[in-house]
Amino acid sequence: MTADRKLLTSDSSGCTGCGVALQTEDPQKLGYVPESALARTPIICQRCFRIKNYNESSSITLNQDDFLRLLGHVGSTNSLVVNIVDLFDFEGSMISSLARFVGTNPIVLVVNKIDLLPKVTNYNRILNWVQRQAKEAGLKVVEIVLCSAKKNMGFERVIEALDHHRKGRDIYVVGATNVGKSTLINRLIRDYSDLDSELTTSQYPGTTLDLVRIPLDDGSSIIDTPGIVYKHRLTELVSKSDLVKLMPDKVLKPLVFQLNEQQTIFFGGYARFDFVQGERQSFTFYVSNALNPHRTKLERADELYEEHKGVMLAPPTLAELELLPPWTKHAVRIPKGKSIDISISGLGWVKANSQSGADLVVHVPKGVKVSIRESLI
Ligand code: GDP
Repeated sequence: MTADRKLLTSDSSGCTGCGVALQTEDPQKLGYVPESALARTPIICQRCFRIKNYNESSSITLNQDDFLRLLGHVGSTNSLVVNIVDLFDFEGSMISSLARFVGTNPIVLVVNKIDLLPKVTNYNRILNWVQRQAKEAGLKVVEIVLCSAKKNMGFERVIEALDHHRKGRDIYVVGATNVGKSTLINRLIRDYSDLDSELTTSQYPGTTLDLVRIPLDDGSSIIDTPGIVYKHRLTELVSKSDLVKLMPDKVLKPLVFQLNEQQTIFFGGYARFDFVQGERQSFTFYVSNALNPHRTKLERADELYEEHKGVMLAPPTLAELELLPPWTKHAVRIPKGKSIDISISGLGWVKANSQSGADLVVHVPKGVKVSIRESLI
């Protein structure tokens, strides 16, 4: 329990569903109950209310350190760990040190949101790409499954993989925020157990503070864990209304720009991409369709930004821009003849396929992770 949580009363008996101390301050934190729901008896926290009424699972979040502390015992259990990552923000949503805290328990890596990739995508190629990335990150997994929880793609493969590796054990589902964990768990609940109609919070006997235990028919459970907040993801730094604009909900339309050196592309006020030096070449941007790119000359870029931020260079609006950290620069050199992605956590990625090499500078709010990787597409 975090120190800043306001308890309703010191002798409050807590949520009737899960026992957590109730608070009315922060909807993102445990034990939240809206003021208006306090008159109800029994009082249950919003999370239990959602589980009970909508089959929705947890939307509680923690930072990675707290998360690892909370789940420190997983290594000593005999369970299957399902790690959900977001293909749109692969680097940003990977849980570093996952391997260390799960002990010898097997990990199934579920890569969600494949519906965002173009229809012609070769999924075997993506699977191999994920395999190499996971290996590079030191994550040993027993299986990788690509899926779209939202569009119901690949879901049978997820079930098959879980059935195959579970062997009657509990399943811990872990993931960063917004990777689609709730969407997937709700599907799993529907598939695995018969709780649909008569779902009540009392059916969650093992529900404790931060973990939601969902009993399965065979006596084992799915354990939903809090979403991990990574401040290196742009999606964690923006308001809810801007989050909708950043996170694509349709197939990504690659934006191809033929650029000369000394040209700049703005993505609203979120990022700026300077092609500093190199022969004329194309760059392909994979970002949400709701972001309008704006091209200008590098020498004009600072001035243009000062004049137009928050209006023409939006989102974010001026008011929201003030809540973001100031931009910081990342210099990127693309070696000759290499095809690489520059991934900007939460915003998307830029594919550079340079015959002659290129020098770039990427500007993003301070703290947002910028990384280089083998091209995904
Ligand atoms: P959680 O925070 O990990 O529990 O994620 P949610 O299940 O709440 O989903 C976060 C956001 O991602 C929501 O806007 C979902 O609609 C969206 N989402 C979830 N699954 C998918 C998917 O398979 N494809 C796409 N495009 N969006 C998804």
